Amino acid sequence: MSAAETAQQHQLFINGQWTEPSSGQYFDVINPATGEIVGKAAIADDSDVTKAIEASHRVFPEWAAKPAAERARTLRKLQQLFLENKDQLARTVSLETGKPLQQALMEVNTCAEYLLWNAEEGRRVYGETIPAGVGNKRLKTIRQPVGPVAAITPWNFPLSMVIRKIAPALAAGCTVVLKPAELTPGSAAQVCRLAEQAGVPAGVLNMVTGNPAQIGNVLLSDKRIRKVTFTGSTPVGKLLLKQAADQVKKVSMELGGHAPFIVFEDADIEKAIAGITQVKFFNCGQTCICPNRIFVQNSIKDKFIALFKEKVQGLKVGNGIEGNVDVGPLINQAGLDKVSRHVEDAVVKGATLVVGGEKLTGENHKDGFFYSPTILSDIKENMLVSTEETFGPVASILTFETEQEVIDKANSVDVGLAAYFFTNDLSRSIRVSEALQYGMVGINDTALAQVEIPFGGVKESGMGREGGPGTLDDFLDLKLIATTI
Ligand code: ADP
Repeated sequence: MSAAETAQQHQLFINGQWTEPSSGQYFDVINPATGEIVGKAAIADDSDVTKAIEASHRVFPEWAAKPAAERARTLRKLQQLFLENKDQLARTVSLETGKPLQQALMEVNTCAEYLLWNAEEGRRVYGETIPAGVGNKRLKTIRQPVGPVAAITPWNFPLSMVIRKIAPALAAGCTVVLKPAELTPGSAAQVCRLAEQAGVPAGVLNMVTGNPAQIGNVLLSDKRIRKVTFTGSTPVGKLLLKQAADQVKKVSMELGGHAPFIVFEDADIEKAIAGITQVKFFNCGQTCICPNRIFVQNSIKDKFIALFKEKVQGLKVGNGIEGNVDVGPLINQAGLDKVSRHVEDAVVKGATLVVGGEKLTGENHKDGFFYSPTILSDIKENMLVSTEETFGPVASILTFETEQEVIDKANSVDVGLAAYFFTNDLSRSIRVSEALQYGMVGINDTALAQVEIPFGGVKESGMGREGGPGTLDDFLDLKLIATTI
């Protein structure tokens, strides 16, 4: 049997039932490392999406009224199931994205952490009493779930992006209609299957796949959906914000970044190199917190480039599921084309190609979207790599003279998600961290996607935070109750 014939078929998940789409049609899901069909996902029409919304709306009052401890128990059960099924989950992620199995396993573990964290935070949704201005009055606040939520997620972390949205939503007492990325629906379908096993009641979590704009229109124009939580590109985020404005739906947006990575001359250069190699090439550079502009102080530029080149030459590129691979493929042809366009543009405009810079077409790579890990130096501000998120395995190095100059350059873009810098000067670490206009700043640190961290950006990188102490805030409405006695 061919791969296409054995590919798993993912129906819609509506009101606790795996449901054939009204269209009767499915689209193919491709493994970007091999070009093979690894799944088929349903194409929902408007009526299917509306049924999912109806289910989420009908069951919402019951789910919201459950004791938080009971919702937490269900999420903890789901956490257990994630751990018990981690090999299979990681395999699905690796097949749909091509990413190294080890990184897919890390993603599964991260999901388990988020499930537990949100389950527990759900039990700590406190209100306040407020001293009133007059003696015969009492004021208190309570926090209540916002209602049914539309969650729209990307392909780069097909499990953890889903969990980072549904875990806080469910813990807070919201219900969800999930629309995962079309490139990775099998990972999302596995979440729904495990949620069923964990005892998440019918209708509390629903999943629809198909045409994104069409599904988005139905979700955003239905009054029963009270919130949209989205991770993805800035243009789609802006579109959803406009659509949400019509009914003043609550929104959380985790959009694109253009992260600066700054290395001062007083830094521990070995640690900086280890940090940049890890965070730049993780997930083949396809993360929104991936450094896109590496600023190295002039005096250490040559040493930095020589050491970095050595590391990058040691990275092994291949099909992630085969193991022993550091860097997988780009997600699709468009992703690969963008990377090669960025590199060509930089070279034409005078950049130096230090290492890499080519599509890989050898025996192990010919059927996938592989690109060699690349370092470019002598980057100028008029190059595409300086102005757009490359979203690929390309490290672009710029130089600077002074602290103020590099702060200004780092802040000169419209987005502000993650920023990193390396220094051993204590005063500088405080000055620079306070001056950078970013939602998250790593000082001698590159691990920002952890459950304790309030993850999110400023400026056009979005609004709202996932994880950390306020993880449920975006799924709760504050209500004031005033009593005259
Ligand atoms: P990327 O470039 O990383 O694929 P996108 O913003 O295009 O980022 O995709 C992120 C998510 O947004 C995916 O689930 C995708 O299907 C969805 N999406 C894309 N366009 C729309 C749209 N017009 N309305 C609603 N969702 C959309």
